[in-house]
Amino acid sequence: MKDETKLVTSGRDPENNHGVVNPPVYHASTILHPTLDALESSRERRASGERGVYYGRRGTPTTFSLEDMVCAIEGGHRCQVYPSGLAAIAASLLAFLKAGDHILMSDAVYAPARRFCNDLASRYDVSTTFYDPGIGAGIAELIQPNTRVVYVEAPATATFVMQDIPAIADAAHDKDCIVMMDNTWASPLYCKPFDLGADVSIQAGTKYIVGHSDVMIGTASATKEAWPAIEAMAGLLGHAAGPDDVYLAQRGMRTLSVRLKQHWENGLKLAEWLREQDMVEVVMHPALPDDPGHTLWKRDFQGASGLFGTTLRPCPRKAIAALVDDLELFGMGASWGGYESLILPQDPNAFRTVTPWPYEGQCVRFHIGLEDPDDLIADLSAGFKRLKAAM
Ligand SMILES: *Cc1c(COP(=O)(O)O)cnc(C)c1O
Repeated sequence: MKDETKLVTSGRDPENNHGVVNPPVYHASTILHPTLDALESSRERRASGERGVYYGRRGTPTTFSLEDMVCAIEGGHRCQVYPSGLAAIAASLLAFLKAGDHILMSDAVYAPARRFCNDLASRYDVSTTFYDPGIGAGIAELIQPNTRVVYVEAPATATFVMQDIPAIADAAHDKDCIVMMDNTWASPLYCKPFDLGADVSIQAGTKYIVGHSDVMIGTASATKEAWPAIEAMAGLLGHAAGPDDVYLAQRGMRTLSVRLKQHWENGLKLAEWLREQDMVEVVMHPALPDDPGHTLWKRDFQGASGLFGTTLRPCPRKAIAALVDDLELFGMGASWGGYESLILPQDPNAFRTVTPWPYEGQCVRFHIGLEDPDDLIADLSAGFKRLKAAM
């Protein structure tokens, strides 16, 4: 079956739910066991790592439905749901680390993942080296005897730099390291991390899986070998995503293929238009043929989402404000992956330490939503006129 079909069919069980199309929302903490035999066999199944309903925190048919959907599309042996993408990142890292270990993390990584390493892992004697995301097979030289996790994210959230994940994964596996990928940009649909060599793939489901800017959720999928550590750490940390949020995530995911196709098309149209604007220095979008990451994107990804970056020519802050303050269709705020367009000025150098971003002008990140692209272009066009008038 193709992914589009699996998005419709996976994680559903109408036959056991009175014919109801969508999986029901189980609100549950206590699970009752009718007899001592049932209680004991339930405990045994749980101890053996079998999936089952034992206690609300450890999952219900509602959670399993989303986990099955993500696995069906992203691949991997099993998937674990968390109450946010960052919770999935933190729990996945903790799953493999102990005192004295070392992490290799892309310098262009999602900033809160960097903070987890610097501010929390460090307190437990786990050290981190941030590496140039473009390092490829050269990562081998940075792997120390105590390196346990090599963490990749492509394209990078702020600068959209691509990574040669198969080359990095090969080098990491040669030294028995776990390869963890943040696959949020492409969603489970447009990148298959396990085919590229990842052992764990993380989704901020908050973004495209949910698709409507109204739920926080995260997932980590893992290979058969990596799964027991992920499952055990989830049990130790006790994260539990709320059933209504999990339900909304699986419902959002049903339409992922049509939404993403449109985000891709609209995003590319806007990226191409932005490239022609004289106030735009560079557009960072790996699906543009002359982007430095284009070859890797073409080789390793099946599509592009609606998130990309630009760097403006240097201009005063008041000119940037004139651009962004009066846009009608672009909201300004963190997150992305919803149906609506967003614009976000940000400074990549605020969270890079080994590969400074070389441009002087303001970085502006765009998320292109499902509006008509010509309306978005008209809105931005008026914005650039205001910007120039304010210079
Ligand atoms: C948003 C995001 C996260 C974190 O997800 P939350 O659900 O906001 O915690 C992780 N990685 C990337 C690339 C993101 O954009």
